[in-house]
Amino acid sequence: MAAIPKAKDLVIDYALPKTPWWDTPAVFRPGYFAYPGKAKNVTAVGMPNPREWSPLDDDWKLPHNWKEIILDGLRERLDKFRTLKLFMDICVRCGACADKCHFYIGSGDPKNMPVLRAELLRSVYRKDFTLAGKIMGKMAGARELTEDVLKEWFMYFFQCTECRRCSLFCPYGIDTAEITIIGRELLNLLGLNIDWIMGPVANCYHNGNHLGIQPHAFKDMIEFFVDEIEAVNGVRINPTFNRKGAEILFITPSGDVFADPGTYTLMGYLMLFHELDLDYTWSTYASEGGNFGFFTSHEMMKRLNSKMYAEAKRLGVKWILGGECGHMWRVINQYMDTMTGPADFLEEPVSPITGTKFENAKSTKMVHLVEFTADLIKNNKLKLDPSRNDHLRVTYHDSCNPSRGMGFFEEPRYVLHNVCNNFFEMPAGTTREQTFCCGAGSGLNTDEIMELRMRGGLPRANAVKWTQEKHDVNMLSCICAIDRAVLTPLMDYWVPGVGVTGIHELVGNALVMEGETERTTDLRGEPLAGMEEAENEDL
Ligand code: SF4
Ligand code: SF4
Repeated sequence: MAAIPKAKDLVIDYALPKTPWWDTPAVFRPGYFAYPGKAKNVTAVGMPNPREWSPLDDDWKLPHNWKEIILDGLRERLDKFRTLKLFMDICVRCGACADKCHFYIGSGDPKNMPVLRAELLRSVYRKDFTLAGKIMGKMAGARELTEDVLKEWFMYFFQCTECRRCSLFCPYGIDTAEITIIGRELLNLLGLNIDWIMGPVANCYHNGNHLGIQPHAFKDMIEFFVDEIEAVNGVRINPTFNRKGAEILFITPSGDVFADPGTYTLMGYLMLFHELDLDYTWSTYASEGGNFGFFTSHEMMKRLNSKMYAEAKRLGVKWILGGECGHMWRVINQYMDTMTGPADFLEEPVSPITGTKFENAKSTKMVHLVEFTADLIKNNKLKLDPSRNDHLRVTYHDSCNPSRGMGFFEEPRYVLHNVCNNFFEMPAGTTREQTFCCGAGSGLNTDEIMELRMRGGLPRANAVKWTQEKHDVNMLSCICAIDRAVLTPLMDYWVPGVGVTGIHELVGNALVMEGETERTTDLRGEPLAGMEEAENEDL
């Protein structure tokens, strides 16, 4: 990992480059590009041009007809996606989006302005697909597709987290995330991808989850957390795996199973389901809610999404309950219906505890755990003691995909208000639709681009810092597994003293369970407020 400057020494240079943007080449330097996809991972999912290569090399080992492949690929997608054609044609370069991207704010690089990021592709479109561009060339904003242009695409389409914040401010609704998605898809036609995406895609395709966890290890990990819960409150939980005929299949990102602090959120899931005596099962095959196919191509997104439903069919469940994940929900709510059609072989989800019918899941047959829990609380089905979170002063990060992508704003806040006494919002303009990205979504949560991540995460961190200074906030909650992983180093860098949690970790802390012993610690083993002395005596 390239060394990064200390937070106080990080300089953001907003000065314009001395040369026009089309004459300013992309310069690859450590900390600003992710390692390329390994040949074995590209091969594993049958994607084109597997080879070992480096962005630092002059020769990127492209196929001899690379230009034809890209232009044919662009033509095919212009025919297929009407939005792409529209987004290529209607930008008036008003600049309303220019300063809305967290990567531009944190880097000062004009090519991270959404309008310019899109222009990288749009200029090529004009040259080959518009009359004005063909005749007038540069005067019409058109440019030739060259290897340098391709390198620029690789750099800047992997410096966009597909968060869609820019689209919110565009008077025409141009969604630069969609342009990035197509840009990455075109790059993938030449084998230009990053390993932090290709590795998880290959693992998910073969083993069912991004981390490549084998079924027995997946089961062992969850059973390890069963022991941990028993150590905290004396309650023994007995989850089932691959159980045919269960009412509900539960799927969550594998990050919750293997990476702190997501693991504490997973403990909260286990406790909640046990307390409800829910008829559910885990699957050791559909052991991933996340979908890094979304960051690769539409086809790969569809393949990985289908796995969850194939497993639901095999097990004969009625519907699927999904854990705290971000892009799993964007894939399901924005793309699945048109990609694969409704999951009609499943039943419309109904909470077996409250009888609530989740009309919003009529087509997908998949309910987000936070809305499930909010419904439980609203119907008075949980015994909660929010004072068990009194040692925490909590704020909430609206993860881009469920919030901006799905309009999922109220349910997380409703749960938070019921499970903790000290909840504080970040400033307006940085929450809900206008939330700032964590800086590392869309498969950019890899350590070799840590400086880029810290820059991209600056606006988010800045808003958290405001809550720390104003309200003494020490915990940042969210409902996305990538966020739980990436916000932790972001807080350590910009706002030391603030930890990161999932909402169901806080639910697990507050949940009063039948047969529990006296609670002295939270799920992390930290003493509850007023229990510090009891804990010290135990030690
Ligand atoms: S706000 Fe929309 S129309 Fe204006 S420059 Fe950005 S993308 Fe183009
Ligand atoms: S989608 Fe997000 S990361 Fe991409 S250009 Fe827009 S604001 Fe920036």
